[in-house]
Amino acid sequence: MSATLGTLLSELEPSWQIRIFEKLDSSALESSNPWNNAGTGHSALCELNYTPQRADGSIDISSAVKVNEQFQVSRQFWAHLVETGTLPVPQSFINATPHMSFVWGADNVEYLRKRWEALKDHPLFSGIEFSTDAETIRSWAPLMIPGRAKSQPIAATRIAAGTDVDFGALTRLLFGVLTDRGATLDLDSRVTGLKRTRNGLWRITYRREVGQTPFVAYARFVFVGAGGHALNLLQKSGIKEIRGFGGFPVSGEFLRTDNAAIVAKHLAKVYGKAAVGSPPMSVPHLDRRVVDGVPSLMFGPYAGFSPKFLKRGSWFDLFASIRWHNLVPMVAAGLGNLGLVKYLIGQLVARKETKFEALQEFFPGADPKDWYRITAGQRVQVIKKDKKKLGVLQFGTEVVAAADGSIAGLLGASPGASTAVPIMIGLLEKCFPDRIESWKPGLMTMVPSYGTLLSDNAAKADVVLTSTAETLRINR
Ligand SMILES: Cc1cc2nc3c(=O)[nH]c(=O)nc-3n(C[C@H](O)[C@H](O)[C@H](O)COP(=O)(O)OP(=O)(O)OC[C@H]3O[C@@H](n4cnc5c(N)ncnc54)[C@H](O)[C@@H]3O)c2cc1C
Repeated sequence: MSATLGTLLSELEPSWQIRIFEKLDSSALESSNPWNNAGTGHSALCELNYTPQRADGSIDISSAVKVNEQFQVSRQFWAHLVETGTLPVPQSFINATPHMSFVWGADNVEYLRKRWEALKDHPLFSGIEFSTDAETIRSWAPLMIPGRAKSQPIAATRIAAGTDVDFGALTRLLFGVLTDRGATLDLDSRVTGLKRTRNGLWRITYRREVGQTPFVAYARFVFVGAGGHALNLLQKSGIKEIRGFGGFPVSGEFLRTDNAAIVAKHLAKVYGKAAVGSPPMSVPHLDRRVVDGVPSLMFGPYAGFSPKFLKRGSWFDLFASIRWHNLVPMVAAGLGNLGLVKYLIGQLVARKETKFEALQEFFPGADPKDWYRITAGQRVQVIKKDKKKLGVLQFGTEVVAAADGSIAGLLGASPGASTAVPIMIGLLEKCFPDRIESWKPGLMTMVPSYGTLLSDNAAKADVVLTSTAETLRINR
């Protein structure tokens, strides 16, 4: 998020001084690290939680269209950076990887058919294929059919335009661009305090990992892009807009294999359907990942609980975030999400064998000796006050900004990395209302669809999707 915002600002206002504080000894070691997230360029091509079934049986595609539209904004920005030579060969961070949805059971097959019918003529989903034929599905994903009962009803959709993104590589590349342009990246520098000064600047207190002396820096504008730790830092800033917000951390694990013979047979990201009542982050998926040019497979996520707000956070993060103003929303959100609590407890106590069976539902021939566990990043889900209820747990992300636009931060989790560009453009609109008009031409150069919706204009969608795919060397 910070790398994206910094790059956008350095394009729009090259003379501005940018300083980045990172508490670890390198960037992209938390959620944006490739092994801490799923690397799915979230375009709702395969994630079934974006296309719920209505009570009348029809499919609501509005969230899917919105998420796809957001990802197209990110793709355009990245294509602009490749075209201008700012970013190197796109395969250093993005790779064409077909996206599939795969379901079993008669009801799920019917659901997937209806979803495909609702999406297939939409300009952002053109090319989506549907099949209930085992041989066809096997040709798309060879590991998924052998070992499956012939009587089991199955169905899949596939769309070649899907991508796998190494958000860690992208983050490091963007920070490289920023430092080349004169920004300062202070590693091993943990921000511990944010305070508004009388003359309207923000006083940033930070500590180096070595030594206990606090350092101080001043800024006109601060973006708190601290991932899971953004809540605590925004609370420290004292802005009233953060009142009532809380966070609920969910940890996770993936299974990974680097066995080349297995990896060579799975050239897609395949998302399944979450069990009824389980949260969106529990959707199981078997993904081909390309990290540092090397392919491997990842399956998960398995959820868990840890009170840390960052993978390398503190055991006290959750407790330290509790304030009088967010106590009621946090308790209310907890009571209103007993299903999630039950799901997490179920995941925590699940035996290793039971967890592995979830993978075998996708890949019946999977052998435990080929797979090992990796710990994923922490997701801190947003808890906030709600007009109808006392507090709600929210999936997705939320920008919280002071009324005067001098400080803003990002709360929440997925999708985040894929939608970083539209989220950060939204932040610019919110925090710099007096400048946004003069930035419009620049934004339209970086994101040709800026200010419009591709889903409303099939001809423009075709031009934009084709040209970004050509530049990024991915499928249309
Ligand atoms: C299991 C999992 C799967 C996911 N899958 C996807 C996916 O497939 N697609 C997708 O789009 N999104 C996905 N996401 C979400 C995505 O990873 C995040 O939205 C995104 O990486 C967040 O980026 P960020 O810059 O806000 O945070 P981060 O990448 O976490 O960066 C925050 C940085 O701030 C630093 N920091 C924290 N506190 C301080 C401090 N006090 N001082 C200085 N530095 C500090 C941290 O060390 C870290 O480097 C997933 C997340 C998880 C956990």
